Amino acid sequence: MTSISNGGSGDGNSAGFADLGIDSRIVATLTALGYEEPTPIQRQTIPVLLRGRDLIGQAATGTGKTAAFAIPLLQRIDLTPGKRPNTQALVLVPTRELAMQVAQAVHRYGKEMGVSVLPIYGGQSIEQQLRVLRRGVDVVIATPGRALDHIKRRTLSLAQVKVVVLDEADEMLDMGFAEDLEAILDSTPSERQTALFSATIPARIAAIAQKYLTNPVRIAVESERMVEGTAPRVRQTAYIVARSHKLAALGRVLDMEAPTAALVFCRTRTEVDQLTESLNGRGYRAEALHGGMSQEQRDRVMRRFRDNAAELLIATDVAARGLDIEHLSHVVNYDVPSAADAYVHRIGRTGRAGREGVAITLAEPREHRLLRNIERLTKQRIEVSTVPTAADLRARRLELTQATLRETLLAGGLDNFRVAVKALSSEFDIMDIAAAAIKLVHGASSAEADHADIPSVSAPRERSERTGTERKPRDGGRGPKSETHSKRPRRKTEWSVARLYVGAGRKAGVRPADLVGAITNEVGVDSWAIGSIEIADRFSVVEVPEEIVDDIIEVLRSTTIKGKRVLVRRDREA
Ligand code: AMP
Repeated sequence: MTSISNGGSGDGNSAGFADLGIDSRIVATLTALGYEEPTPIQRQTIPVLLRGRDLIGQAATGTGKTAAFAIPLLQRIDLTPGKRPNTQALVLVPTRELAMQVAQAVHRYGKEMGVSVLPIYGGQSIEQQLRVLRRGVDVVIATPGRALDHIKRRTLSLAQVKVVVLDEADEMLDMGFAEDLEAILDSTPSERQTALFSATIPARIAAIAQKYLTNPVRIAVESERMVEGTAPRVRQTAYIVARSHKLAALGRVLDMEAPTAALVFCRTRTEVDQLTESLNGRGYRAEALHGGMSQEQRDRVMRRFRDNAAELLIATDVAARGLDIEHLSHVVNYDVPSAADAYVHRIGRTGRAGREGVAITLAEPREHRLLRNIERLTKQRIEVSTVPTAADLRARRLELTQATLRETLLAGGLDNFRVAVKALSSEFDIMDIAAAAIKLVHGASSAEADHADIPSVSAPRERSERTGTERKPRDGGRGPKSETHSKRPRRKTEWSVARLYVGAGRKAGVRPADLVGAITNEVGVDSWAIGSIEIADRFSVVEVPEEIVDDIIEVLRSTTIKGKRVLVRRDREA
């Protein structure tokens, strides 16, 4: 097991990171970001990379792998002024979105050191990239195609590169980048350090590793097998939501579940503080608990929670570790935990003393793989569900009001109130009087409903050759729904529509059904989230919700339409 004990709580200084040999400036940055301790992949990877070894890391998004390679990489950058015009580190990633994300992360972690970072990817103006490259950039994060473009034009020199990272290598191969990768690696110095990260290690990846990595250390976070039956029996549900809708989704789920006492886990201190503030702003009684708080503050919070003065405890793993709370009705993972055993520890806090426990996880579309890993390791199913709609919530609230009324009726002692009913009954129908009374109780007990629609995204379908367990989409895998595509009733939504350009059209035999099928089955969005579809001879344009367009692009890029890989991007005319 990779479970960690660093004395648990209250150490407020990210000591775990310093122990790994991380530069004090980066440790300070991580503390400021609210990271309390390294994740398992970070704990295993960082010392190996700092020693200069090559590495194969088997880790999915959400495990903290970006920091795992970015931190050692930053520490290898020579900041002596004379060295700066040369690119010293290169990270290759499959998509534009990931290039931007990784560049942001590297920039964030390296801020104190003053390291310069540039993402380069197709679709972005090459002139701008050229200007920055000419000035000199320490770390380049690139998609393989565009990196190769620059290498051929001699606008990106890799002669001084000391570190190369291949991130999501399996995705890059799936997208047909194998040759590009080899060409790029061939134009870097052979004494470079190479790290390869991949969620799966099929034979093709192993072959690349064999050719380009020297005596690599292999690290797989998920390698420890959970002993069957160690995971607690609790109802486990996950909701897949875009980051921008997480808070609203959490509110919905909490209102639906009406927990009596819930522990909500976040990854960082900063998230704990922000979420606590937002939830209190929305009328919940939430208290924060994290490693940056004094013992006295923590005791106060726990007292409030035990006395039911607070119904939600928002905490980091570190802060929750030493807690002794018995009466939790729910555990909520605001983020998917970075490892399966952390998940098991978290959810094990509910469902004690013979009561049914509920574990809820909010996952971003990219994190679905992490969920599947957890399922595989715990051998328990996590049901993926859609976020309750505003209408579901209204129905549920009425149900709760009805239950309260039932209790009141059963308890009796209503004589004093019958007078009022009698007085009104000469003027109104008894049924109406009762309904009005319920309206009053209901109005007083339920907060103003949040009517905004939350786009529903469910997990992309896993490909069977990777996991051996193909999951059926929610509609039971029925085929495309071409006949209704133009008339399909669309829910009224408040999110804006983005236009998706797909580089195949009528000439390639594409029909609306193929596009709807690819999007609903592969990406997992509901079909009502798809707007109008135009099919031209050589391309098609599909309207989809802006919030999830990037996720759709990412998934469609690694899949095929009519058996072919096609160009998928935002429509420029949008
Ligand atoms: P990644 O797997 O690299 O995509 O990271 C997933 C998320 O975890 C990102 O939002 C990171 O900011 C966050 N993260 C990475 N390392 C840690 C850590 N040690 N503690 C808390 N959050 C982290």
